[in-house]
Amino acid sequence: MTNITVAKGDGIGPEIMDACLAILKAAGAKLKIDEIDVGEKVYLSGNTSGIAKSSWDTIRRNKVFLKAPITTPQGGGYKSLNVTTRKSLGLFANVRPCRSYFPFIDTKHPVMDMVIVRENEEDLYAGIEHQQTHEVVQCLKLVSRPGTEKIIRYAFEYAKQYGRKKVSCFSKDNIMKQTDGLFHSVFKEIGAEYPNLEQEHWIIDIGAARIADTPEIFDVVVTGNLYGDILSDITAQIAGSVGLCGSVNLGAECAMFEAIHGSAPDIAGQGIANPSGLLQGAILMLNHIGQSKVATDIQNAWLCVIENGIHTGDIYKEGNSKQKVNTAEFSQAVIDHLGQMPTVLKPVEYSVGQIYIPPYQRKEEAPKELVGVDLFVDWKGESPDELGEMLSKLNNEAMSLSMITNRGVKVWPDGFDETFCTDHWRCRYKTAEGSTITNKHIVDLMARSEEQGVDVIKTENLYYFDGKQAFSMGQGQ
Ligand code: NAD
Repeated sequence: MTNITVAKGDGIGPEIMDACLAILKAAGAKLKIDEIDVGEKVYLSGNTSGIAKSSWDTIRRNKVFLKAPITTPQGGGYKSLNVTTRKSLGLFANVRPCRSYFPFIDTKHPVMDMVIVRENEEDLYAGIEHQQTHEVVQCLKLVSRPGTEKIIRYAFEYAKQYGRKKVSCFSKDNIMKQTDGLFHSVFKEIGAEYPNLEQEHWIIDIGAARIADTPEIFDVVVTGNLYGDILSDITAQIAGSVGLCGSVNLGAECAMFEAIHGSAPDIAGQGIANPSGLLQGAILMLNHIGQSKVATDIQNAWLCVIENGIHTGDIYKEGNSKQKVNTAEFSQAVIDHLGQMPTVLKPVEYSVGQIYIPPYQRKEEAPKELVGVDLFVDWKGESPDELGEMLSKLNNEAMSLSMITNRGVKVWPDGFDETFCTDHWRCRYKTAEGSTITNKHIVDLMARSEEQGVDVIKTENLYYFDGKQAFSMGQGQ
């Protein structure tokens, strides 16, 4: 018996959750359910987080959370409870299997069967944004080695345990050589521990184009937070079945299972919603808690129902479908098919327990040398040469101005007149080759800037780690 937390959510949530729970019960899942309220009712009662403290306690105690979709009230300062839950519980991986069910459900991609493993906690979603000048705002893209190791290892372990053949890493490391560069290099590093799995790297733009065009060449795809967010919706959509996809948000301690669709207020209360997305989430949950036999039975029964053309309105199509059913009838059909095997669609046999990711071991620290600083300056002038001349006056024996860029493009020395410039300038001061400085030199430089009336809006230290330059060059440098 496993204790799980269940939230029936909003809109169609209660209808599809009841349908799913009926199937889990009939299939013999050994669950003890603690139900909590989340979502609209809780928001509107004045709790802007959408969840009560006692409900958090239940989720954290049970560690396994099956959640129906919730409505995020529009307007006002309501935060999405999904994002809050992911971040608060350290749910680092978002895993979304997407496959097509051709010829029973329409799709342009009959043999598609892939899983997107999306990093869920960092990258541009760290939510650290600042306005720095009148013309420029910034969002920090943070990629950590622990975060990257966790998600990459999870993708490989998932592939191994689910009998998948290939793991593809998607990044843009030709442009973001530090952040995406780390993601790609950790992929190669950890991939070496899985010699039996095929592995490849795609630059995200052409990789995404290939997913949209030829998804059958992909198996497991691991990628960063923003790329994964976009790719996982594309993948679900082109499978022809957004309403049929479930997902898990997984952390070291807790996991949350759900459908990928929302609360569908337009059809709520009519009893016609498709419970399949949430059921797919529940099947992932059963595997996670070691009840793989029940997960297998339900998935095969569900495949039979799809194959026999017993379809809810959202996927019903004259010619493909045989019988249009409502939510409760669909659920009953799955129950009636328990013990049967699909004949056209490939049956499944799960033997997956929890996927264990060892805790991150901090690496021995490589030598770190401070070799300069980027001063970011708010300046309304137009000639980079004028700024170069002004800032060269701050040079001393420790550091001198080596380059100015505007939005990353080198404009001094020897810039092009054609380069468009804003009021946000990065001014790079470097030590002579081979020498290092301390933070004290940077503080001195800032004091001299202040005396000269230079408006410094931020600084970024320039390091060598393990003898290697660990900062990007200017575009055109
Ligand atoms: P939605 O996914 O709820 O609905 C989009 C369309 O798909 C609608 O026409 C709906 O009727 C249909 N649909 C969705 N699920 C269906 C199902 N199971 N069976 C049949 N048809 C289905 O997206 P939306 O309308 O943009 O969002 C509605 C609300 O859901 C919003 O408040 C949004 O914030 C929330 N939402 C929640 C989650 C979540 O809890 N994980 C995810 C997405 C959106």
